[in-house]
Amino acid sequence: MEQLSNISNIKNILGKHGFTFSKALGQNFLINPSVCPRMAAESGAEKNIGVIEIGPGIGVLTCELARLAHKVVAIELDKRLLPVLDETLKDFDNVKVINADVLKVDLQRLIAEEFSNMEVVVCANLPYYITSPVIMRLLEERLPISSLTVMVQKEAAQRICARAGSRQAGAVTIAVRYYCEPKLLFDVSAGSFMPAPKVDSAVIKLDIHQTPTLQVDNEKNFFKVVKAAFGQRRKTLPNALSAGLSVSKAVANAALEQADIPLNYRAEQLTMEQFASLANCFEL
Ligand code: SAM
Repeated sequence: MEQLSNISNIKNILGKHGFTFSKALGQNFLINPSVCPRMAAESGAEKNIGVIEIGPGIGVLTCELARLAHKVVAIELDKRLLPVLDETLKDFDNVKVINADVLKVDLQRLIAEEFSNMEVVVCANLPYYITSPVIMRLLEERLPISSLTVMVQKEAAQRICARAGSRQAGAVTIAVRYYCEPKLLFDVSAGSFMPAPKVDSAVIKLDIHQTPTLQVDNEKNFFKVVKAAFGQRRKTLPNALSAGLSVSKAVANAALEQADIPLNYRAEQLTMEQFASLANCFEL
């Protein structure tokens, strides 16, 4: 189907199927025809590559991915969209739509069954109500995927792509950078969607490290320390860590001194390496 991301075609298809948008499912569909081809090209979708898409909606991005990739598996929670996708994707024989919740589906198994011996990338205009849980699930499970190219709210994109040790950094910055190298690709205005959300968006690409770049003794400790440090980000580290980790200030101070981190520092001032050495100094 040509010209799917053309507003009158989208309205026609939605009208024909009597579709109404669900705010709860984060349904803001792309209507700007230049965005999907660009996202698909940036995702690394190519003839020998498999793609997982999360939330295909009516299939605007799915079509572009299917044109480039060997195979696309699209996971859509809203079953009302299945007949719509049957129609919009009918010209492609390399797309499979799965009706499931991306947070519940067994992705390891899905990849093994659908993409054996194929490099896999993820590309999605994510439902914003679950942006962080989806990204963290895909990273924490250490799925055999090489990158995630995702549209998220602009503020989330800036936070995720911030440099550790900068004002914009948050716990998600450190968590994401532990697993991958994030890159802000391009901004997308609120008017590019129907219905238009209240905020602008951006497309980011997360290239997953194939080998770890940080020396962390205990991953759980590392993430606990990051969460605690940013839990009270305005406080200095001794206070934030003792509150967040339920340890005495003396224990927090001793770990900071051992890691050679000044006691008047705040979480946003620490580099990735400093977070790693600090976590390595805690027995939690
Ligand atoms: N890709 C389409 C586009 O760009 O126009 C739609 C993107 S829309 C922001 C998010 C999509 O994710 C919707 O189709 C929504 O129904 C779907 N969705 C919401 N929650 C989901 C979940 N937990 N698992 C899978 N899909 C979900």
